[in-house]
Amino acid sequence: MAVPKRKTTPSRRGMRRSHEALPRQPHADCPNCGELKRPHHVCPHCGFYDGREVLSAEGKALKGAVRV
Ligand SMILES: [Zn+2]
Repeated sequence: MAVPKRKTTPSRRGMRRSHEALPRQPHADCPNCGELKRPHHVCPHCGFYDGREVLSAEGKALKGAVRV
């Protein structure tokens, strides 16, 4: 079995972990209800997108909202 020749120093370990931070998630204010939502996505709180209601409050798609 392959075994590391030398102990990983705290410096090397820190350099490796410098790439492990998670990026900040993008967010934007919903113009309808003001809650935080993902940009270019339907608001999960009020179901609005582009100034009209696309989803009902329960999250079901409204009639005629889905374009094929
Ligand atoms: Zn909203």
